[in-house]
Amino acid sequence: MTHRESVGRGDRVAGSVVGSAAGDALGAPFEFGPAGVFAARFPDGVGTLCGGGGWDPGEATDDTQMAVLVGESLLERGGPDLPDMFDRFRRWAAGGPKDIGLQTEDVLTNGEPWYLAAALHFQLNGRAAGNGSLMRAATSAVYFAHTGRPATMEAARRIAALTHGDRAAWEGTAVLHELIRVALTGHNPLAAVPGALAEVHTDHRSRWAAVLAPDWHPGLATEFNGAVWPCLGTALWALRTTDTFERALAAAVDVGGDTDTVAAVTGGLAGAVYGIEAVPDRWTRTLHVPLPGYGDRRLATGDLITLAARLDAEGPRAT
Ligand SMILES: [Mg+2]
Repeated sequence: MTHRESVGRGDRVAGSVVGSAAGDALGAPFEFGPAGVFAARFPDGVGTLCGGGGWDPGEATDDTQMAVLVGESLLERGGPDLPDMFDRFRRWAAGGPKDIGLQTEDVLTNGEPWYLAAALHFQLNGRAAGNGSLMRAATSAVYFAHTGRPATMEAARRIAALTHGDRAAWEGTAVLHELIRVALTGHNPLAAVPGALAEVHTDHRSRWAAVLAPDWHPGLATEFNGAVWPCLGTALWALRTTDTFERALAAAVDVGGDTDTVAAVTGGLAGAVYGIEAVPDRWTRTLHVPLPGYGDRRLATGDLITLAARLDAEGPRAT
């Protein structure tokens, strides 16, 4: 990671939201592919949002679609209105998105109320530590960033719990919110890992500490990266071992597996570090976010920048 002190907060805020969407669209065509697939497609390292696998060039997937729903709910309701957020998710799921996580789909379509749906799913299945709450974190991370560490992490847990009953997912999503918060201030998010871990629930701390350690790499993963632990671990590894926004995302996609989500998480963090100027124009020109369930709505990069700026301006302040 290269530290860029000169990047302003507005550029970081836009970088996080757009960066996450760009990573999502970059990785989507390679989902469930093998390692090395990105480098094979783009041997010169200059990747494009090429589309494929059912995705149009520049099209962002469920990761960004849900992040937009979270962000718009926060702005329109003036704060975290969890039933409203859940309703928006359900309307979107009923709108037939091209992709939706298995666990998220089950929770949003099981007919249970917002406060029970995810918990019941976890009770019945015993496994709910997918990366589906991590993938949509950029918007809420920007919104809550001014409230400081404990409040940001607590808000992240509550939003994660809407679709994920496993506390492992809450804690990982909380850590990502905190690292983005630190990056938005211009400080090094990698140096903020110990502070974030100190706030993680004690039952989950050692497992998170393992994948967030400075010497961890994707080769050490003990689960598929559709799980929350290696997904965030890989994003940090990609940021740590590269020196530009674009190289961080290429590294994330090249790991293979759940490439859109790993790159979305990496992009949310790397965008906050490097700022919107580091996101290549050839990506932002074609980037777009359809919103199934919401008519013909489709956000372009400019809309995401506006959304990010509003989230930063209208989010709650520390009391
Ligand atoms: Mg996706």
